[in-house]
Amino acid sequence: QTPARYHITDIDMMRTIYQPRQPFAHKGTYGHALLIAGSRGTMGAAVLAARACLRAGAGLLTCHVPQCGYEIMQLGEPAAMCSTDEQPDFNTHFHEQADARYKTIGIGPGLGTSAATARSFEKLLAVYKRPMVIDADALNILSVYPYLLYQLPAGSILTPHPKEFERLFGSTTNDFERLELLSRQAVRLQLYILLKGRYTAIACPDGAVYFNATGNPGMATGGSGDVLTGILTGLLAQDYSPKAAILLGVWLHGYAGDLASAELSQEAMTAGDIINFMGKAFLSCF
Ligand code: AMP
Ligand code: MG
Repeated sequence: QTPARYHITDIDMMRTIYQPRQPFAHKGTYGHALLIAGSRGTMGAAVLAARACLRAGAGLLTCHVPQCGYEIMQLGEPAAMCSTDEQPDFNTHFHEQADARYKTIGIGPGLGTSAATARSFEKLLAVYKRPMVIDADALNILSVYPYLLYQLPAGSILTPHPKEFERLFGSTTNDFERLELLSRQAVRLQLYILLKGRYTAIACPDGAVYFNATGNPGMATGGSGDVLTGILTGLLAQDYSPKAAILLGVWLHGYAGDLASAELSQEAMTAGDIINFMGKAFLSCF
């Protein structure tokens, strides 16, 4: 008998995935993440992702930003280190930063899609081989240069919303076809692909698809996805496997959103509030 392909995640599953911190741990224990994000006018996406990465528990975080983003990032998240690009307004030389020091890389929020940025992404993929989190403009670069999909490290995580998914893999006529396409692409490319929405669908390289039930329409607001990218990057840095990081990260992101909406309303909550409620989400789940 073949196991069911479709699953729904729940709190019991999260409790088997979650790893409490060790008493003798130091910051090196929880990994050094590199976040490549931001350009002129979209530095907020980079700051949100950076804050979320640290709130998810990463040991150390370096953010690679264009020169215009240096002060913004240093003030926006004092706990993150900052490396600056050669360019004033865009990240175009981040491939030079990618080395074995970094446990994982999160790339995409507010990144921009210039040709120079795409070239740096291609060079990054030639040297960096550990699973990474790919979101937003990094996904849009992949839709313009689809051959890069085959150069992503195995086990990497793509986090498209429906529009980004369509740009990457084409349109479908109904939700069931879209789910089938999602699962097929995850198997074919040997990647994890999350289709974000009310019930985020998580497709695994082995063909399994998990649905997440936490979250609410208060999260339909700019920056929510950037927060998820930070959380997933932070969990990968701590040595969670890609699958464990996604199941736990998507759950916590939605749960923090539910706590934020309960206190602030779905209307008034913003993406930053999801980050502010990450602590209560950890405390009430574990
Ligand atoms: P993005 O479009 O990249 O900003 O991502 C939006 C994030 O918010 C994703 O993680 C979605 O799953 C979540 N989200 C947006 N709308 C809803 C909704 N109506 N219910 C639950 N989660 C949502
Ligand atoms: Mg997004």
